[in-house]
Amino acid sequence: MKTSISIESSFSAAHRLLGYPGNCSNIHGHTYRVIMRLSVNHEELEFVTNELGIMVDFKTMKNFLQNWLNINFDHAILLNSKDHKLIDFCKQEGPKTFVFFACNPTAENIAKIIFKNIKQEFTLLQSIRVYESPITYAEVSNA
Ligand SMILES: [Zn+2]
Repeated sequence: MKTSISIESSFSAAHRLLGYPGNCSNIHGHTYRVIMRLSVNHEELEFVTNELGIMVDFKTMKNFLQNWLNINFDHAILLNSKDHKLIDFCKQEGPKTFVFFACNPTAENIAKIIFKNIKQEFTLLQSIRVYESPITYAEVSNA
């Protein structure tokens, strides 16, 4: 048995997928929803909760995730490192750009990057789920 706590944040960004045979190869935007979940096994729960019965304060989780998303992804252009034309253009124009190394900025890869970075701060991190639309998401998890 596990106990989990989750919070939700969001960010807006533009991206395009190189080599995609359809509309996603055009520059377009999403308001991404991000669900961050921390989990602990039932046997360990008493060791990670404080005297108030709180694992990690929701406010602490929300502030950290939203701050990380604001700095790195919010109102940025998310690009594949092979998208040279657009990277050059963005550097000239000066918009905020996040370059993905050797991969497309898909929901899967966005979730992976968020997971790796948030895991450094929250050891109980179980999963990061990234919604690209109300009905489509990618999730990266420990198991
Ligand atoms: Zn898209």
